[in-house]
Amino acid sequence: MALRKIRTEGDPVLSKISRPVAEMTPKLHTLVEDMLDTMYEAMGVGLAAPQVGVLKRIVTIDIGDGPIVLINPEIVETSGEQTGEEGCLSVPGMSGRVTRPNYVKVKALDEDMNEVIYEGTELLARAFCHEIDHLDGKMYTELVEGELHKVVYEEDEV
Ligand code: ZN
Repeated sequence: MALRKIRTEGDPVLSKISRPVAEMTPKLHTLVEDMLDTMYEAMGVGLAAPQVGVLKRIVTIDIGDGPIVLINPEIVETSGEQTGEEGCLSVPGMSGRVTRPNYVKVKALDEDMNEVIYEGTELLARAFCHEIDHLDGKMYTELVEGELHKVVYEEDEV
């Protein structure tokens, strides 16, 4: 198990646009394993590669139903709306209200570079949007309605 350092808000890497993965390499497989380890250790439900300082379009998510690995993910369909508390491992201890689609369909590649389609609602839809935003250098704090506030109870951080 190898943990990577999670970059926090203010680190310039978090506002950069990540590059697509052209081919999976042993180094990138290790990155994916390390991202999963780092995400679980930090009790997060999602992590994007730029959060560990790597500008590649790779996301890991686990909302409690097992790990999802997305390479070069794209949102291809959304519907509905949900407003709820959101947090981020790069903004520790804080959360804020964000409105996201309630349904999100994602097209991506898996670790073998085969096309996969995922559909998610509620927390999973929120995690898809949040993590894919990281790949474009966008932080949820830009979308917060009202003010960011300190987390006073345990909740999911994506
Ligand atoms: Zn985040």
